Amino acid sequence: MQRQLLFIPGPVMVSDPVLAAMARPMIDHRGPEFAALLARIARGMQPLFGTQGEVLILGSSGSGGLEAAVTSAFTAGQKVLVCPIGVFGKRLANIARTWGLEVETIDTPNGYALDPQALAARLRADTTGEIAGILLTQNETSTGVQNEMAPLAASIGDHPATVIVDAVSGLGASDFRMDEWGFDIVVTASQKALAVPPGLALVAVSSRAWERIEKAGAPRFYFDLRKARDFAKLGQTPWTPPVSIAYAIDVAIERYHAEGAENVWARHARYARAIRAAAEALGVEVFSQPGAHSSTVVALNVPEGLQADALRRSLREDANVVIGGGQQELKGKILRMGTMGALSRTDVLGGIGALEITLLGQGHRLQIGSGLRAALATFLGMETAAV
Ligand SMILES: *Cc1c(COP(=O)(O)O)cnc(C)c1O
Repeated sequence: MQRQLLFIPGPVMVSDPVLAAMARPMIDHRGPEFAALLARIARGMQPLFGTQGEVLILGSSGSGGLEAAVTSAFTAGQKVLVCPIGVFGKRLANIARTWGLEVETIDTPNGYALDPQALAARLRADTTGEIAGILLTQNETSTGVQNEMAPLAASIGDHPATVIVDAVSGLGASDFRMDEWGFDIVVTASQKALAVPPGLALVAVSSRAWERIEKAGAPRFYFDLRKARDFAKLGQTPWTPPVSIAYAIDVAIERYHAEGAENVWARHARYARAIRAAAEALGVEVFSQPGAHSSTVVALNVPEGLQADALRRSLREDANVVIGGGQQELKGKILRMGTMGALSRTDVLGGIGALEITLLGQGHRLQIGSGLRAALATFLGMETAAV
């Protein structure tokens, strides 16, 4: 198979050094080499989460990390306030329901970020303290919307609920300050902004959360954060971990810090701006609302008269460029281009050029080169309009 250029929001392009790390020989996952590896990963991840607390690794995709967070923090019958802004937020609500929690939601239309005022108002009304948990999404991959977390943290204020954040598709790509914002459990996964193949969930847990985890929690076995913590103290994981993915993430974290967090954030933001500018120039509307744009996923409306599936198929088959489609009610309505992973500026220009050719081929009217020109202007710092 020819190498594809992945613009899907996970799994993402993986750099050659990270891929090569996975070819290393196996080691004993209960031996000293793995212990050193695990400690390096946890330490290296702390600044990405913005925490001094523990970072645990679980052998699973992101959803396993989210389930571990929910089952560890709450007991059946407790009430949690879930604030979905798209498909992944609804999944979080479903996890909570599955484990017998009473779920209340603050609903937000697709394309918008969560309104901090709405959250503040609901929590102010909770005079009896019945809300035991608040479940937030940092970056909603299904709509290309990123919540600003600092204002949400301010809205929560000193409400005592345990705060769980799904930061799966954003952590590492922008500033995140778990400790400062008072979040209890934050979850991410290897195959998104960390630019590693899928297989590991990373879960950061605050010290306040541990006190609650000791007292509460649903029945759990595999996804038990207490076990993960106890084994981490011995330099191990409770269960056999995906050792090769651990090799990969170790190298990826080293590369992350070598590039510098602020440069990584700027890169994602710049790529997202370039894609949005290109889309607008091509007459393809950005789906997310101004002020709510994600820096890791750009959602675009499918232009009038075109078909999402045909566009995506042509991009994949003719150009080896893979982009995402819409999920659930947005299926057929939007396209999604991720900015995460080992993508160069040239890759982004290539992806935009391919999109331009494909749109033309599908009968969309556009000015040849207009998308590329807008993207180039973004990269050269010569944007004219704010997008
Ligand atoms: C990818 C993703 C997840 C987890 O999905 P998995 O397939 O289980 O890794 C959860 N939340 C968001 C916002 C995501 O983008």
